[in-house]
Amino acid sequence: MIAFGLALTLAAAPVAEVTVTPDLKKSELAIELRTRDWTGDCLCLDKPVAAAITGLTAHPDREDCFLKPAKEPLKYTVSLSRLRRFRDDPDFAAELGPAWLFHDSTFLLRLDGADAEFKVKFVLPQGISTAAPWPQEADGTYTVSVAQFDVGSYVALGKLRTLGTVTLEPGHFPVRITLVDEAKKATDAQLISWVTKALETHATFFNGSPTLGKLPIHVVLAGVSSSDAGVFGSVLRRGEPSVMLLFGKNATGGFDSDWVSVHELFHIGNPPTRGRFPWLTEGFTTYYTEILRARSGTKSENAAWATLAESFRDYCAPNGRSLSELSATLGQHWEYQRVYWGGACLAFRLDVAIRQKSKGTRSLDDVMRELRVGEKLDEEEMIAALDRAAGSKVAASLPNGVAPGGLASGHLNEKKRLDIEPLLKDLGIGAVSGDSVKLSDDAPLAKMRKAMTLRASK
Ligand SMILES: [Zn+2]
Repeated sequence: MIAFGLALTLAAAPVAEVTVTPDLKKSELAIELRTRDWTGDCLCLDKPVAAAITGLTAHPDREDCFLKPAKEPLKYTVSLSRLRRFRDDPDFAAELGPAWLFHDSTFLLRLDGADAEFKVKFVLPQGISTAAPWPQEADGTYTVSVAQFDVGSYVALGKLRTLGTVTLEPGHFPVRITLVDEAKKATDAQLISWVTKALETHATFFNGSPTLGKLPIHVVLAGVSSSDAGVFGSVLRRGEPSVMLLFGKNATGGFDSDWVSVHELFHIGNPPTRGRFPWLTEGFTTYYTEILRARSGTKSENAAWATLAESFRDYCAPNGRSLSELSATLGQHWEYQRVYWGGACLAFRLDVAIRQKSKGTRSLDDVMRELRVGEKLDEEEMIAALDRAAGSKVAASLPNGVAPGGLASGHLNEKKRLDIEPLLKDLGIGAVSGDSVKLSDDAPLAKMRKAMTLRASK
């Protein structure tokens, strides 16, 4: 019997049972944690936010770790306002009117040496609720699987109102929209359409749901002081994704033609990567933000090419530092425009090259779809995959031709001027004036340019 019991114990996966009691007046979470089937002696944070936690003894040797007290439950307090001082965004904590949005790894402690599942229960005062991308039991307890804890989730807590779960096509996939409940000028229907129209555009692109997750896509909307429809957004795209979208509380329209929801929600379908390389995730998303708006008709073909051409002319050419270097040091140099639009310019050049190589039967769209369902790639593997897709025999009109390593590696490492003008000219893209651009249908690649923004184009 003993041996049998021991075998069962060894087989059981460790679990952390977490009870969270928020005190929103103090902007604090009081947490009790009980463990099952775990014998470790230390609990650690995945983010460097130990200064936001009180009530536990810091580990003498290990940063962002705490000693396990002799007795359970462990009790500790997380200060949301201190988390926000680390960074005022949901990757740490953002205060959004009467609610908070914070990252789960700021309050869930990893059981050292174990892959533990979390059972998280919130004890909430009247009028306060939570929203998270996790499955929930009838009593409100959330389950955070080992895999989901590894990729991270946003948790919304405060005065929230659900805008419902909507099933979208193509792909028949659900999105659950939660609103931070505050006065706003837009109608609920406008906000729902802001999210769902963008997701439907992406579902058309990916031939189905942009996420490989199984649960409803978790979207939290919050109003901020602005008259713009879309203001800002942030996405955790891996596993079951989490999305935050900020809109202008004073906006009465403009949601149909806004770019923020199109951009942010496209991130959900970005290829899986090992490590971060913004030239791909931000750059390619920036390219498709314009292309997909033109395809869905929420921006005219002419206006989309005007934005693309102007931004390529301004930011595609390196300024002495390569795109690869600017991308790797984005957090220090904040060259956002150069990384976003330099990456978009690479996406554009690859798109043209792939279309030329395949005589119009393939495009970057196909490569993006294939990469999305493929293995996680590191930066080098991603560059090699893109170089393979583009091939080596691309048109001479491509700026600077193609470096021996390939189009993507050449573009990423180029430090000298990268002249995009010949390629724009071949596509019939001329001078920009205001929001419009001179497009010529007689140019050698004019047909290709039209195919790029065609609805449901290849
Ligand atoms: Zn982005």
